Amino acid sequence: MNVTNFQELAAAAAVDLSRGDAAAQLAAAFSPVAPERRLYCNRTLNLRAIKAIGFDMDYTLVHYRVRAWEGRAYAHLRQRLLAQGWPVAELQFEPDRVMRGLVIDKQLGNIVKANRFGYIKTSMHGTRPLSFDEQRLAYADTLIDLVDTSRWVFLNTLFELSEGCMYAQLVDLLDHKQLSEIFSYEALYKKVRFTLDRAHVEGELKAEILANPEMYVDLDPDLPLALLDQREAGKELLLITNSEWSYTDAMMHYAFDRYLPAGQTWRDLFALVVVSSRKPSFFQSNNVMFEVASPEGLLRPLDNPPELGKVYFGGTAEKVQQALGLAGDEVLYVGDHMLSDVHQSKKLLKWRTALILREIEDELLALTPWKHAQRRLDDLTEEKETLEFAFSQLRLQRQRHRSGYGPDSGAPKDLQERINLLRERLVQLDGEIAILVAAAGQLHNQHWGLMMRAGNDKSLLARQIEGHADVYTGRVSNFSLETPFVFLRSLRGSLPHDHTT
Ligand code: IMP
Ligand code: MG
Repeated sequence: MNVTNFQELAAAAAVDLSRGDAAAQLAAAFSPVAPERRLYCNRTLNLRAIKAIGFDMDYTLVHYRVRAWEGRAYAHLRQRLLAQGWPVAELQFEPDRVMRGLVIDKQLGNIVKANRFGYIKTSMHGTRPLSFDEQRLAYADTLIDLVDTSRWVFLNTLFELSEGCMYAQLVDLLDHKQLSEIFSYEALYKKVRFTLDRAHVEGELKAEILANPEMYVDLDPDLPLALLDQREAGKELLLITNSEWSYTDAMMHYAFDRYLPAGQTWRDLFALVVVSSRKPSFFQSNNVMFEVASPEGLLRPLDNPPELGKVYFGGTAEKVQQALGLAGDEVLYVGDHMLSDVHQSKKLLKWRTALILREIEDELLALTPWKHAQRRLDDLTEEKETLEFAFSQLRLQRQRHRSGYGPDSGAPKDLQERINLLRERLVQLDGEIAILVAAAGQLHNQHWGLMMRAGNDKSLLARQIEGHADVYTGRVSNFSLETPFVFLRSLRGSLPHDHTT
């Protein structure tokens, strides 16, 4: 039988085609989820096979207004440097100065964006864009290797925007000899990292957030429903956060309790809560575990393995998994930190992983009005490829004709005119393409362009996501739009030869 004859196939399998029409009509009543709210799948994931879902809190269950939260973190960082006599009073937080997925080059004081192979495609020295020639000189023979943390710092999460912005601005000051105690870009990075770390750990920044959560937290009323849906579908829910108990309790209360059915609190959603988890070491080391034994956060040493229903401090993912009695691939962990939440949990425990990437919403929204321009760019590129092929063929004919070798292809008399004509059109095409490429480079972020693309290729961030996150999406409540029963299938992977068949 001819396999393209679907009517015959259906008849052979005794399929009643009218049932298919009726089912299609039924399905048509449900409009598809909007692109910016979808779950995007790298590796096929049947949510029905997942028995437990662990959630990170900060920038995952609780999303912050980046401008406000990172603005405060930046202000604390600046204040601490100012107190040490640094000339930073005039510096201002610029939320677009850096974005997730960029890489700091501590050796040269640059911030760079690379493609999926680690080749650097865009770069800035401090806040100044490097020219094409400067970039070539600095990086022509350099590939980013993220394992080499002595040189490269990958911006894994939105928490790193304040640090990246301050670092770029301070590189400018260092170049202008305004930082007398610092002698290298590497030492400068160390100082920024240490100072921001202190701001996160010592209480003032968090106290400010807790005093006015409405200024910093971007509430999502659909979020508690999404978790209730998963819990009622039979999944154990876990909260595993690096935040300390008092902050976690206050934030979760603020973001969840108002939307839950009367009498329930955020605690009722979770079978197990781990605070101060110290990810990524939570996934690999044998950190001690305590029980949080009172609402005030009193810690009690653990004599027995952790049990469901309680709150813990520290510990390890292995212990949590044992308490659940599940295999690694029955646990899904949802977080926003590329390395800690997604890469490590998958690598060390084989947990299934979902990355929360809120910026994808803006990125997709920026791409919609760009669609026509992209089509024009694709058309121009295709025309360019066709003309380049002919151009190269004519050049080869000319070369063989001039040097008197090779088959006699009967080179046309007006060979040079033909070459000139093609060259002229190619120059025209390059001009138009350059304008469109420059405009594309400012989509989503004026300095860096799209987060998931580097030129026409995938960005290093996109490659990281593809390698470690089974799923990525803009916000946790999207799990509810796709339901707890969704079977997410990865796309048939594209290969360079696909479009020829
Ligand atoms: P999670 O995302 O829920 O695991 O929690 C992130 C926690 O780590 C928050 O409490 C942040 O304040 C904290 N955090 C983020 N960056 C730093 C840092 O550089 N040093 C110490 N804590 C940090
Ligand atoms: Mg987080």
